[in-house]
Amino acid sequence: MKIKQGSSWRDVPIAGNILEPGTSAELKTGAWRADVKPKWHADRCIQCSQCWVFCPDVAIRLDDEGKVCGIDYDYCKGCGLCASVCPEKANAIEMVPEAEEV
Ligand code: SF4
Ligand code: SF4
Repeated sequence: MKIKQGSSWRDVPIAGNILEPGTSAELKTGAWRADVKPKWHADRCIQCSQCWVFCPDVAIRLDDEGKVCGIDYDYCKGCGLCASVCPEKANAIEMVPEAEEV
């Protein structure tokens, strides 16, 4: 593929192509999770929605009223972003070993 750079054209490799669009629901990104997973504590959650906003896989579940109600482990990759953005005063998400019951 050629892209224009200033007045000249440059060859760049084609990468990151999505060959079959609309497959995100079928791609269970939770299978990528390795050692840890998030554990949500309902009793500590202050419903600030930061985890939902930042989760790259839309794996934070919301109830019918739009409130955080858990984690969809089919899609959670275990990146820990939700635990990082959860306010310190709430500390409602902790990363636990994959084998732990949640
Ligand atoms: S660990 Fe990552 S992928 Fe899983 S719910 Fe948290 S932010 Fe989303
Ligand atoms: S970031 Fe923490 S306190 Fe905020 S909604 Fe998510 S779990 Fe609850």
